[in-house]
Amino acid sequence: MTRAGAALIAAVVWTASAAAQGLPGPPASRAAEAGWQALRDGRHQEAAAAFAAAIDAEPRDPSLHLGGGLAAFLLGQPTAARHALERALILAPGLTPASLLLGDILYRGSDIDGALRVYQAALQYAPADRTLQTRLERLRREAELHGSYFASHGARFTVLFEGPADEALAARALEILEAAYWRVSTALATYPEQIITVILYTEDQFRDITRSPQWAAGAYDGRIRVPVRGTTPDSYELERVLAHEFTHALVQAVAPRGVPVWLHEGLAVTFEPGGGGWAEGQLAGSTARLPLARLTGSFGSFSTAEARLAYAQSAAIVAALFDRGGAAAVGAMLQDIARGDTFAVAFERHFFMPYTDFLAALETPIDLVR
Ligand SMILES: [Zn+2]
Repeated sequence: MTRAGAALIAAVVWTASAAAQGLPGPPASRAAEAGWQALRDGRHQEAAAAFAAAIDAEPRDPSLHLGGGLAAFLLGQPTAARHALERALILAPGLTPASLLLGDILYRGSDIDGALRVYQAALQYAPADRTLQTRLERLRREAELHGSYFASHGARFTVLFEGPADEALAARALEILEAAYWRVSTALATYPEQIITVILYTEDQFRDITRSPQWAAGAYDGRIRVPVRGTTPDSYELERVLAHEFTHALVQAVAPRGVPVWLHEGLAVTFEPGGGGWAEGQLAGSTARLPLARLTGSFGSFSTAEARLAYAQSAAIVAALFDRGGAAAVGAMLQDIARGDTFAVAFERHFFMPYTDFLAALETPIDLVR
C-alpha cells in the first residue's frame, strides 16, 4: 500500500526541482544544486542540510524554501515542512509546486479547509493548471461529504464517515487507535507528529482488508480507510484491522518512502492483536515459501494463497528482527531510511550484520517458523 504514495512523492520531487530550476532570480548556488541532487537520490538529511546552507546565503530565494520544505516532509517533519512552504509562498505566491505540496500536507493532517484555501490561492496564479483544478474538485467533494467528524482527545486522530455517521463506532475506533498509537510508537520508539485521518465506510460491508493488498494499493494517501458496515464497536476484528492499518500509517509517517513491502506488512501484522500467532500458524501449516525477493515489492499481484503466505513470512522476518535487535532498532532503522539511507545500510547499522547474511539465514524455511 506504499507504492502509490512513493510515486506521488517521486513526482513532487521531480516537478518541484524542475520548476525551481526554471525560476527567475539569483542563479542556483552550489549548495542548492547539491540539495536537489540529494533529494533525487533519496538522501533527505543531506538535502535538508544543503538547503539550510543555501538559505543562509540567499534567504529570499523561494525555490530554496521549497527544497527545504520538501526535504523536511520526506524526513517526516510536516510542521517544519509547512513553515518552509509558507515562506516560499510569501516570497513567490505563484510557485505552484509549493502550493501543491503544502495543500497535500494540510490534507494529510485533516485540515481540508486549509488545503482548499492554499489551492484556491494558487489557482489565481495558474488558472489553467490541471493538477490544481483536479485537487480542488476532489477536496470540495470531500468537504461536502464529511460534514461531521470526530476527533480524539489526544488530537492524534480524526475520524470521518463516508456514509451515515455512527457516533458509538467513532468513539470505539478512536479508543482502539489511541491504544495502538501508544503500543506501536512505544515499541518502535518513534512518535509521529502528524494527525492521522481515518475514514470509516458505513455503507461498505466490513471485511478483512488486511490480507487483500488491492484494497489500499490504488490510492494510498496516508489515510486509514476501513469498510465497517455490519461491524459493532466491540468487534475484535475491527480492533485487528485498525491496529494493522494504523501501523502502516505510522511507518508511512516516519519513512514516506524506501521501506520494503515485507517490512511494512510484517510490522502491520505483528502489531495486530494475535498477529504473531496467526503468522506462526500459517507457516506451520505448510512448507511452501515465497522467495524473499518477491516480498520486497507490491503484494498486489499475488493469489489469495500467495498473499497469505507473503503476510505470514513478512511477520516472521519482523519477529526475527525483533529477536535479534529489539523493536526499537527497527524504529531507528526506519528513521535512517527517512534520512536517505538505503535499507541495507540502515539494516547493518542497527543489526550489526550484513543484510545479505540475514537474508541467507532466513532462506532456510525452518528458521522462519518460531
Ligand atoms: Zn497491510
